[in-house]
Amino acid sequence: MSSAEPSGVRRVAVVGGGISGLAAAYRLRTLLGPAAEIVLVEGSRRLGGALRTVELGGVALDVGAEAFLLRRPEALGLVEELGLGAQLRYPTPAAPTVRSGGRTVALPTRTVLGLPGAAADVAGLLSAPGVARVAEEPTVPLRWEPGQDAAVGVLLRERAGDELVDRLVDPLLGGVYAGRADALGLRATLPAVATALDRGAGSLLAAASTVLSVSRRPSGGPSPVFGTLHGGLSGLVDALAAAAAVRPRLGLPARGLARTADGWRLRLGSTTQTAHVDVDAVLLAVPAPALRRLLADPLPIASAAAARVEVASCAVVGLALPLAAGQALPEASGVLVAAGEPSKKPEKPLSVKAFTFSGRKWAHARSERVLLVRASLGRHGEARVLRREDAELIDAVRADLAALTGVTAVPVGTVVARWGGGLPQYAPGHLDAVAALERDVAGSAGLAVAGATLHGVGLPACIATADAAARRIAGYLTGVNAAAEAHGGTMGS
Ligand SMILES: Cc1cc2nc3c(=O)[nH]c(=O)nc-3n(C[C@H](O)[C@H](O)[C@H](O)COP(=O)(O)OP(=O)(O)OC[C@H]3O[C@@H](n4cnc5c(N)ncnc54)[C@H](O)[C@@H]3O)c2cc1C
Repeated sequence: MSSAEPSGVRRVAVVGGGISGLAAAYRLRTLLGPAAEIVLVEGSRRLGGALRTVELGGVALDVGAEAFLLRRPEALGLVEELGLGAQLRYPTPAAPTVRSGGRTVALPTRTVLGLPGAAADVAGLLSAPGVARVAEEPTVPLRWEPGQDAAVGVLLRERAGDELVDRLVDPLLGGVYAGRADALGLRATLPAVATALDRGAGSLLAAASTVLSVSRRPSGGPSPVFGTLHGGLSGLVDALAAAAAVRPRLGLPARGLARTADGWRLRLGSTTQTAHVDVDAVLLAVPAPALRRLLADPLPIASAAAARVEVASCAVVGLALPLAAGQALPEASGVLVAAGEPSKKPEKPLSVKAFTFSGRKWAHARSERVLLVRASLGRHGEARVLRREDAELIDAVRADLAALTGVTAVPVGTVVARWGGGLPQYAPGHLDAVAALERDVAGSAGLAVAGATLHGVGLPACIATADAAARRIAGYLTGVNAAAEAHGGTMGS
């Protein structure tokens, strides 16, 4: 294939068919119009990446991402733009809990990813000495240079004690990043707290207090923090693919990227098949290891920056419990589990890092027959979780559910989803690595990057990078077209 096309018709390849690649392809379509040829190269045999809805016990269950934050506009905006607003659903009032120190208690609500503005806000969860350590934090002298970074857990342990980290911050960060608080960087995972420190907050609690006071809604009434779609988030995937009107090429991962005289050549391949695609522009929306490989030849600096981002693997297990048994579950939306939390056998800690009682959390996910439960397992460095057989994972999840809730019913349906390398780890210095990557890419005409590797793993953050990357590519192609018209309409051929 070549990029020789009549003037005005441009070929773009989007690599990676997760939410970032799909949102980018869609935005490219809206910006470039129907004539542009958009090739979507997806290495696996399905679109969606970490978005995947399955049917379990007759009910839709998301076994990847299950909801998106509403306090950022991007995901909600896209849902509305695609005409999916009528499918939007909000969680029920059922509240989350946390299991740590052998007790299950309500998850404190007035914190920034576990960091409270005042020690009293975590009093229900920590021991009295643990609360006292947190209360002393503002009195510990803080050495903080604007712009610096630190590992969240390390900084917090020094200043506020281990309990706050082990019982709250680590389980919450484990839920979002499948990572450990001691290895994740403050600046990328709690950016507002880092900014408050840069601006002179004298302690971590003071910084959290500033952030919480800004994020509190003036109207006072509770408004939903998360939303999802009736029928599951695969509905967003399908709507994006249809509206983007792409030509998907499934099952052939991109293996290499090279500049050509007038654009880019992507080398695709499996063990049995190879191909190449020549295009005017390329938008890469793949996880960090694939970014590293694809950028190695044309942009070694960006490739080295991508290599600094490690990835964590995790698994999600869905159980369809008979309704009567499911109704015996606690009246909560779920339970986060602290790492190393003992099970009934003290030598064998609980395997699960979180249960979502989906049938309690989402009214639309209720049925008259079953109540769905979703368990997630695996933190960074625990790749062995993914090597366990499905049956073994299901047994471990059932044993943990019994230990935490007393519910021992045999499920009427189960599903196991594995997410190898599914979540990037934002280590200290992450934003410097991303800045180096983006600087190098910015110097390359007709190339852009998007995805969870860059500025946040949540769906709104991914969509924001997709939008920016699509605008960059569209701006470049529009410029090329304008130049082509000025020169008689032959550029790119
Ligand atoms: C289990 C789980 C639960 C989550 N829960 C939530 C949640 O509730 N809310 C939320 O906001 N976020 C959640 N997240 C995070 C969020 O889902 C992801 O960060 C986001 O979906 C990533 O999208 P992406 O398109 O950047 O990457 P991905 O979804 O990883 O997509 C990348 C795509 O690129 C493809 N690919 C890789 N290499 C190549 C190659 N060489 N050539 C071609 N294609 C390639 C992959 O097959 C994949 O389809 C969750 C993540 C996981 C794993």
